[in-house]
Amino acid sequence: MQFAEFTQVLSQLEQTSSRLEMTQLLSQLFKKTSAQEIDKVVYLLQGSVVPQYEQLEFGLAERLVFKSFVSSFSLNEAQARQRFKQIGDLGATVEEFRRTNHSLFEASSSLDLLTVFGKLKTLAHQSGTGSQETKLGILSDLFQQLDPLSCRYLVRMVVGKLRLGFSDMTVLDALSWYLKQDKSLKSVIETAYNVRPDLGLIAKLIKTEGIEKIKQIEPEVGVPILMAKAERVGNAGEIIKKIGACAIEPKYDGFRLQIHKMSSGQVKIFSRNLENVVQMFPDLVMAVNQEIAAQNCIFEAEAVGYNPKTKKILPFQEVVQRKRKYQIEEKAKEIPLKLFAFDLLYYNSQSYLNRTYLERRQQLNKVVKSRQQVINLASETIAQNTDLINQLFEQAVSDGLEGIMAKKLSGTYRAGARDWNWIKFKHSYSTRLIDTIDCLVMGFDYGKGKRTDFGLGAFLVGVFDPQTDNFVTVAKIGTGLTDQEWRYLKTQSQSLLTPSRPSIYRVAKQNECDVWLKPGLVVEIRADELSLSPAHTAGLALRFPRLERFRQDKAPHQTTTLPEIQKMQQLQHKSSLK
Ligand code: ATP
Repeated sequence: MQFAEFTQVLSQLEQTSSRLEMTQLLSQLFKKTSAQEIDKVVYLLQGSVVPQYEQLEFGLAERLVFKSFVSSFSLNEAQARQRFKQIGDLGATVEEFRRTNHSLFEASSSLDLLTVFGKLKTLAHQSGTGSQETKLGILSDLFQQLDPLSCRYLVRMVVGKLRLGFSDMTVLDALSWYLKQDKSLKSVIETAYNVRPDLGLIAKLIKTEGIEKIKQIEPEVGVPILMAKAERVGNAGEIIKKIGACAIEPKYDGFRLQIHKMSSGQVKIFSRNLENVVQMFPDLVMAVNQEIAAQNCIFEAEAVGYNPKTKKILPFQEVVQRKRKYQIEEKAKEIPLKLFAFDLLYYNSQSYLNRTYLERRQQLNKVVKSRQQVINLASETIAQNTDLINQLFEQAVSDGLEGIMAKKLSGTYRAGARDWNWIKFKHSYSTRLIDTIDCLVMGFDYGKGKRTDFGLGAFLVGVFDPQTDNFVTVAKIGTGLTDQEWRYLKTQSQSLLTPSRPSIYRVAKQNECDVWLKPGLVVEIRADELSLSPAHTAGLALRFPRLERFRQDKAPHQTTTLPEIQKMQQLQHKSSLK
């Protein structure tokens, strides 16, 4: 396939906001690609050359790409800058220039997709001294050889602004359409993707081996597995009703880590949004090597900070300081971590995902050797009745924890799913909502009065609607943040500013914002209740919302979803009727 043929499809995708149409365009594209091309096409659709969890970026700032564009075509910089300003998109600027000066270039659209992919891969892998020049050289060659439309998308890819307006879920839908002309295979494909979240690999397997192979997909140590999530209840009785006798564990308040110990001795540590954060935790790498009895394994744990003098667990606000890029060793000494291991997903080259909780836990107990050093086991009590669950819940709350987790004894590990195999029961005496809500910050208004100092007055938040791949709003929040939190919000927003409302945001007129942000910043919000509201596109609004914490560990598509808050609103009605 020619690269130009591929970018034609990108242009069609960009022109539609209908998810069904996007799905069909993608499935037709998959039909046209060869087995050798399909994984590359999928990575390029995500604006990358590798699966997303590898986080390999092109590392080219827009400013640099602009300079290279100006110099490789010997343009007048001031004029080019002015045109770029008018158009507002570097990709479209380069495209326009290429279109209007076609006589200067070699015969265009002559490169095939595999060649361009290879060059982009080389570009992305450059590092060290001189790498910027090499990267810009590759880019400038491509500008010369590609057609104008391809230049548009090439630029957007390398500056990280491809944004075609669909998520991985649409690609999964499209793979089902590719096989069967409908979305009936989506859930089978999604289950595989949750175990191996590498869209390129999944697409290739579908193309080369078909759906049966997909059903047998296994985890691989070193490749993150999408983390299982818990359903919510408002009282202990509901736990017993749902899953009967169960294992109760404290709900530790730190951050969740998925730890991969490889046979080579290498350790990888993934956070909730599948980022490999191993560099941040040299102390945990050492602990895994010393305290885990397995040749290779994948286990999950909550990391909490503790005070070595008082031996007390620290509040979340302190632990979160361990998530940093600099002064790692110093902070590791100041705030040592303890891990509370609660699940085993893979052990000595065998998947444990389909084993029961009891089997996984039994093996985990053997794998965690020391149990007093850095890696501990989450404490566990088998409870048959409501009284014992309530007692354990009260104990957890009086120990300063958020609540408890209940685990179904016969439950498997459901990668990426939120279901009743795990249930969280959190304390919330002051509100009618049984859980906090993770929201995306979508935009903000300029501040008045004191808050002009921060340049922010109120910020609009929303949740993800998986039906449409859009974000819908639930609140505009203007109070309740500390000065430090306003400042943090301001700094984090800087790199996300975008001149117009992203097309995947559904916002009612009265909630339009002065400034829009691209999807990137997730906040955890506590509210008193969810009420019906025509002003918010979720159809529900948060009453008395307040910021609980910033969730750096969550990606935009991992916010609470629209169906989840609809369910929470119903639960809230139920409990108020009692
Ligand atoms: P989500 O439900 O989407 O995971 P969240 O990340 O906001 O939302 P919580 O509502 O805090 O999560 O509840 C689940 C989280 O609780 C887990 O992701 C994990 O980080 C934490 N946790 C603490 N203790 C345990 C435990 N014993 N077993 C499982 N998870 C635990």
